[in-house]
Amino acid sequence: MPGSSTLVILGGGCFGLTAALELRQRGWQVTLIDQGPLPHPDAASTDISKVVRMDYAQDEQHTAMGELSIRRWHEWNAHWKEELYHEAGFLVMSRHSLQEEGFEHDSHSFISQRGYSLRRTSSDTLREMHPAWNHSVYRDGYLNPVGGWVESGRVIARLAAKARAAGVQIHENVPQPRPLFEGSRCTGVASISGQKWQADSTLVAAGAWTPSLLPHIQDVMWATAQTVFHFKPDDPSPFTPPQFPVWGADIGRTGWYGFPANAAGLVKVANHGPGRRVNANDARALPPGEEERYRAFLRETFPSLASAPLHSTRVCLYCDTFDGAFWIDHDPAHSGLIVAAGDSGHAFKFTPVMGQIIADVVEHKPNPWSHRYRWREKTAGTSDGARAS
Ligand SMILES: Cc1cc2nc3c(=O)[nH]c(=O)nc-3n(C[C@H](O)[C@H](O)[C@H](O)COP(=O)(O)OP(=O)(O)OC[C@H]3O[C@@H](n4cnc5c(N)ncnc54)[C@H](O)[C@@H]3O)c2cc1C
Repeated sequence: MPGSSTLVILGGGCFGLTAALELRQRGWQVTLIDQGPLPHPDAASTDISKVVRMDYAQDEQHTAMGELSIRRWHEWNAHWKEELYHEAGFLVMSRHSLQEEGFEHDSHSFISQRGYSLRRTSSDTLREMHPAWNHSVYRDGYLNPVGGWVESGRVIARLAAKARAAGVQIHENVPQPRPLFEGSRCTGVASISGQKWQADSTLVAAGAWTPSLLPHIQDVMWATAQTVFHFKPDDPSPFTPPQFPVWGADIGRTGWYGFPANAAGLVKVANHGPGRRVNANDARALPPGEEERYRAFLRETFPSLASAPLHSTRVCLYCDTFDGAFWIDHDPAHSGLIVAAGDSGHAFKFTPVMGQIIADVVEHKPNPWSHRYRWREKTAGTSDGARAS
């Protein structure tokens, strides 16, 4: 691909920005357009934190991507001279003894085989080392000290600044940008106010908004709404590492996970569930009874957090694919169009490796990881099992 090729990217989340940076470095003329400011308050990549982990049951690819991403998160911290990735560890606990084919068991055995030293955690260890947990309910699990959380919204701001400095033309607050077609060929982007950006290639990386921009892929991906709660305990110290790392509470079965207190004393709790199918442009509202559902979980799991004042909530959208794998490929039916979306609720941790995957796909170069995210036919009953924060 000649270095002077032009690319217009729709969407400045972690997919769009990392692709912009990587392709700019490879010599492309890159324009990135977002409907909002960067970071967009409603984008999935925004928020105070995202889990970073390599624990992916027996999933070798995502374990390897997690490992490399963690190494790069450390490098980015050093480069930024600021710790945006916090290696607080990842504690996964279950009410039951770890069982084969369970997320906790399989992650523990797979990562241990790769040479990592995990600490198996019983009720007794929980009581001694992680006193906020209800040790009479949670009996078995492990701590992986390699993993933690990243200040995702601030990372997006950093990446946008880096992209601008590298020569990416960024246009924010563009009214209703859409891909532009001449017949079946995608020729760039147009906004509702009549602005146009022509390009050799157009990359749609609009997260949960992608299916509404490209109706022909609505049968393979869609937006689902997920809730997030930020609590502000009067005393956040019991909810700080090492006694309170990033955690999953029977996450493979229940979807509950959360974070230590951040610098502002906010403790984030979330539930990674099937969610509600929505249109990304719909108003975002919590389902009725959601706060009580969270507080009931907290009463059972972290009793001392159960009555903490609520600081804020978010309704955040995944772009789920039918099989749970990301979607990064050229559209076989529309020349000039490439899609990088379908994050399925767990892509942020891979931000440090994502740009290379997308750029290799754009340039038709081989990449060890891209095949899983190729354009594919919808098949019944498939799931790649990776959909866990
Ligand atoms: C509640 C929740 C919790 C999560 N927790 C984790 C976690 O702990 N760990 C983890 O690894 N991942 C997590 N994820 C997933 C992660 O946030 C996403 O995988 C990732 O942020 C997706 O990035 P994206 O670039 O595809 O989309 P987004 O970040 O949503 O970015 C899309 C961008 O496209 C823009 N856009 C939309 N429409 C248009 C348009 N028409 N024209 C131009 N621009 C447009 C938007 O404004 C936005 O800036 C979570 C997601 C949610 C919702």
